[in-house]
Amino acid sequence: MGEWKEKEPSYLGASFVHCDTCGKMIPRRIWTETVNGEEKSFCSVQCAELYVTYWLPKYGKAAASR
Ligand SMILES: [Zn+2]
Repeated sequence: MGEWKEKEPSYLGASFVHCDTCGKMIPRRIWTETVNGEEKSFCSVQCAELYVTYWLPKYGKAAASR
């Protein structure tokens, strides 16, 4: 389960948030979801689902089995 977060102008200063799935810069609304105890940022709910169903099983095994 995740939630939308509205990025404030002062949020993390001038740094940019990138989607953890597609790497796209997220200008304002960030979908945050906790995956394996880590808070991840996504540009959309679709990217969050893709991360969990595709990216994580494919590339996240090392981190998950640590
Ligand atoms: Zn994305």
